[in-house]
Formats: sequence, C-alpha cells, structure tokens
Amino acid sequence: MASATRKYMVEPGGKINLSKMNPAETALFEDGKKVALEKNEKMRSKIDSMQEMLYAQKKHRILIVLQGIDTAGKDGTIRHVFEGVNPQGVKVASFKKPTEPESDHDFLWRVHPHVPGKGEIVIFNRSHYEDVLVVRVHDLVPEKIWKKRYDHINNFEKMLSDEGVTILKFFLYIDRDEQKKRLLSRQSDETKQWKLSESDVPERKLWDKYIKAYEEAISRTSTKDAPWYVIPSNHKWYRNYLISRIISETMEDLKLKIPKPSFDVSKLVIE
Ligand code: AMP
Ligand code: MG
Repeated sequence: MASATRKYMVEPGGKINLSKMNPAETALFEDGKKVALEKNEKMRSKIDSMQEMLYAQKKHRILIVLQGIDTAGKDGTIRHVFEGVNPQGVKVASFKKPTEPESDHDFLWRVHPHVPGKGEIVIFNRSHYEDVLVVRVHDLVPEKIWKKRYDHINNFEKMLSDEGVTILKFFLYIDRDEQKKRLLSRQSDETKQWKLSESDVPERKLWDKYIKAYEEAISRTSTKDAPWYVIPSNHKWYRNYLISRIISETMEDLKLKIPKPSFDVSKLVIE
C-alpha cells in the first residue's frame, strides 16, 4: 500500500500551485505535537539503525536535497532529523554563493564531488537548484542559460539514479507571515541574531518572484527517480515528522541488511 506521505509528493509532469497548498496544515497527524515528538524520537533511532546497515552493506547511496526560502528551516531539519544518527555515515554539503573558481565553471561542477558514495547519506543544504532560483530571481545569468538548466538537472539526477543513488528532494514551505515571525524572533533574541543577514529584508521583498521560481523548478524537475516533496513547514514538529517519515520509509524500501562476512569468522583465532 502506498504511504500516506505520497500526498506531499509532486507527481512527475504535474504542475504545482503553491498558493493552493497550506503550509500550516498538519493533516497526517491528529494527535498533535506531543505525540509527534515521541514518534520523531522513534523514527530517529530507526533511521540510525538503518544507517548502520547502509554503511555496512556499502551498496546504496542516499542523497537528500533541502531547499526553502530564508528561515524555512533547513538547518533545523538537519539538526532534528539526524540527531542521534552516527555522524560518520552522514555528510552535509552546504551550497553558498559560488566562489570565484566555482562561478568560472558550469553550475554542476561544484555539486558533483559531493554526491554520496556507497554506504553514505549526503544532505544538500541548498543545492544546484539555487542555479534556477536565486540566479533567476536576481538575473545572475541570462534567461537563455538558466532556462536550459532544468533539463540539465533532470539529466544529472537521472544519471545519479541510474548509477544507484536514491534521491529525495524536500521543499520546506512556509508562508510570508511565518517568515516575518521567524525574522522578528531572530532580531529580538541575542542568541539568534547571528542568523540574520542584511540581505534578509530585500530578499523578503522578492517573495513572489521566489515562489514563482520554486513553482517552475519543482514542476519541471519532479521525476520518478528524483521526486520533490512539498513539506508544510510552518509547524516545525510536523516538518520534522514528515521528513523523518519519508526518509525512514524510503530506507525501509531498500530492504537493508547487515551483510554476511566474506570469510568464515569462526575460523579466526583470536588470542
Ligand atoms: P545561507 O543558506 O543563509 O547560509 O545563505 C547562502 C546564500 O548563498 C543564499 O543567499 C543563497 O541564495 C546563496 N547561494 C547559494 N547558491 C547560489 C548560487 N548558485 N548563486 C548565487 N547565490 C547562491
Ligand atoms: Mg540566510
């Protein structure tokens, strides 16, 4: 039976309209935050034990892409979903404004070296999608160039999938009021002020342009092998619940096992 989480998956070839989605909904959870937090805890330990098998088997590779408007919760997701998971098997690659050598190359040049190897989980905190998002919103390259990138992204991800990478892409969807709340709370809390940047205010003014860029990017690049999930993220506990659940279900489908040793361990003479 298909999981209930499928309702958040963007069907390949479908066109999404974010204004029809509610970032504050918590539909798969009627018992509320407290029970969700307990479930999250259980899923974390399940992800941890599956990660150990993934690492031991050295067969599968998992790539998780996190995208979202400023304050949507990419860092918080990484912290909560992977808390307690062995740091040796999980890597995070964060993509910032390209350095000079990076912008001297094609947009995938800096991305490819970070894809997961066998037995690894890699989380992209922002990703190659910035090259059709911020780049489009700020006209950083001509339209004629970024327009072609959707196909390049699909080809790149198809190649990764054909080579054995399991790809999950999450768009953390918050609304404009929620962003305002989060920015204000960063401003008024001394321990959070470091997270603010001067560009946050002008970026917020470009909200509609970002939403449009996200809608097109997600619609054009949600594929069978590399699907997008739109995660209602106004409630952090629900965001963490959904993402943990989707990752956990995806890992279960891999039918991971602790591998049998390649030699007869009973013959080892341990003195
Ligand atoms: P943060 O995630 O808050 O640390 O900020 C990283 C910044 O880098 C964001 O403003 C991104 O939009 C920006 N960024 C990431 N990738 C690119 C890119 N390919 N081109 C331009 N800016 C980028
Ligand atoms: Mg930022």
